[in-house]
Amino acid sequence: MTVKNHIYIGTAAAAPLSVISPSGSLLFLCVSLLVDIDHFLFFTWHQKKIILNPKSFIRTHEDWDYFGPRIHLFHNYETILIAILSAFVNGDIWLYFAGGIVFHLICDQVSTFHKYRFLRIRSLIGDFIRYRQYLCATRKGQEKKFIVAWRNTWINHIINAFPEKSPSQISTECAIMKTYPDKPFIASDDFGTWRSVF
Ligand SMILES: [Zn+2]
Repeated sequence: MTVKNHIYIGTAAAAPLSVISPSGSLLFLCVSLLVDIDHFLFFTWHQKKIILNPKSFIRTHEDWDYFGPRIHLFHNYETILIAILSAFVNGDIWLYFAGGIVFHLICDQVSTFHKYRFLRIRSLIGDFIRYRQYLCATRKGQEKKFIVAWRNTWINHIINAFPEKSPSQISTECAIMKTYPDKPFIASDDFGTWRSVF
């Protein structure tokens, strides 16, 4: 979902919360807007390059051709769980923090559902495992092999999510297949298991 839409929808959702807790409502809104900052953090880390201008970052990030696994510090289950557990120790304000993330993820999920039709929220531990696998493969000179298996995982998810379409139709429609046309285009692989588990 675009930043603009997150602002509109986040404000609408935070407004009624201000009746219960003005500071909680503000935190909810800020968190629901700032969750996407993890895209910036991962890009900076992976590319070893910092782009501070938000507009030029969004443009560069949209055009970024990296297709491998990514680490999402906020788009994940564990951060929500830690925030909920923090509420027991540090007070209810953490529930607004958790609520902001959950709300953001629901918005992301709803706005991309037509495109993927499967749950795109991931585990942070899973993100680290997958990214480490990618780095190991890259070090061994097997980046291409890894990326083809990774692409197959995506294609397999899409094939499962769109039973009304044939695998060959999906393979011709998916942009990924144009970028990485290597065969075989359908194969199950170990990363699929990780993605299902997490
Ligand atoms: Zn997001």
